[in-house]
Amino acid sequence: MLRVFDYERIPVVEIVNDIMVDASKRGASDIHFDPLEKFMKIRIRIDGILIDYAEVPNGIKKNLVTRIKIISGMNITESRLPQDGAIKATINGTDLDLRVSCLPTSQGEKIVIRILDYTMSLTGIEQLGFSQKNFEKVVKMINVPNGIILVTGATGTGKSTTVYSILQRLNKEDTNIITVEDPIEMDIEGINQVQTNSEIGLTFATALRSILRQDPNIIMIGEIRDSETAKIAVRASITGHLVLSTVHTNNSLNTIERLLDMEVERYLLSSALTGIISQKLARMLCPKCKKERPTSDYEKDLFNKVLGKPIDKVWEAEGCEVCGNGYHGRIALQEVLLISQEIRDAISNNIRKEELRELVYGSSDVTTLLQDGLEKVAAGYTTFEEVLKLIELDDDETMEVKVEAKEAANKTEVLQTANLQKPVQEEKPRPAGIADMLAQQSTNA
Ligand SMILES: [Zn+2]
Repeated sequence: MLRVFDYERIPVVEIVNDIMVDASKRGASDIHFDPLEKFMKIRIRIDGILIDYAEVPNGIKKNLVTRIKIISGMNITESRLPQDGAIKATINGTDLDLRVSCLPTSQGEKIVIRILDYTMSLTGIEQLGFSQKNFEKVVKMINVPNGIILVTGATGTGKSTTVYSILQRLNKEDTNIITVEDPIEMDIEGINQVQTNSEIGLTFATALRSILRQDPNIIMIGEIRDSETAKIAVRASITGHLVLSTVHTNNSLNTIERLLDMEVERYLLSSALTGIISQKLARMLCPKCKKERPTSDYEKDLFNKVLGKPIDKVWEAEGCEVCGNGYHGRIALQEVLLISQEIRDAISNNIRKEELRELVYGSSDVTTLLQDGLEKVAAGYTTFEEVLKLIELDDDETMEVKVEAKEAANKTEVLQTANLQKPVQEEKPRPAGIADMLAQQSTNA
């Protein structure tokens, strides 16, 4: 339901404060202020979904944008160029840590406020939703004193939460931890955090070079975005440092390829890489109202194929006064790869992508994102629909190695007939080529 403000009587200062505090209390991750022709629309993102929040009359729009620009430290006389800002304040008893971005569109300035919330990362890696097997792998990889660990996923998949949780576990008195970040998303006591500033030339790469002269044990790099940073990160990790970073890729295999595309030397990468944690966030079923139902034939087939076991019942979203739409909060789906000697050899020997894929997914004990997701469906944490919405074509190619090696499938045919929403009507009991089917699914932003 839309919130309605008395714009005639309440000062815009108070309205802006109210919106920021309220969105934060509702657990929103972002607030969008969209200029439209007739009014400005405000939307908030909760559990990954944007919902309408309020409508601001055009007469108030300008004041509202100006107010946000002032408190986030932007130049209010500049409205033709994009600007970034930040707000760190306690308003009405609520601590707010916000990143603000302003973008001139054809309809006027659009503002997006990102709400940083680190309550999750304070609870530790035990609370991140890892399966027992994945959790043990993560503990193993962070106990290696040197090497590089990468957390991968798209924007908004909880990479920072995972990285901060690992850092907190490693944060001990006898350890020198230095980070270079953009932005610093959370202050951690006892850790030296550096904010990059490209305007004065303090990039990830330049900061990293200085950090290496500061006798660090552990280095956290907010994100590896370019070749130079990738190379320094890898070199740092083979000279006795534990390096932790994130990459914008969606699974282990793509991550290795991305780093090689960034011209990291194969022999260095093969000895540096310790592990890769890939993740996505699925909406979690509301425990109050989730409803059990028998699995459909199609779902049964997929469970059988992907998990190798029969699953007779799943849960679906219902909706109640607590959750609204049947979902409440989110749970991570993960793929954790501990780099084996075979994979190291494969990376340095420049084997073909298909063979590397076979090594990573075919013969290793990796649980793919799809497998982890379906395990979490079977356990009643989330829904079948939610997981299939999230798993992309690429992830799924990885599954084919695992489950379809011996099945000769006519993919073209499947592409034409399969649709995950409606069970396949053909006689084929097992619609082969999950990748093809998933290609028809819209993927979550
Ligand atoms: Zn509910």
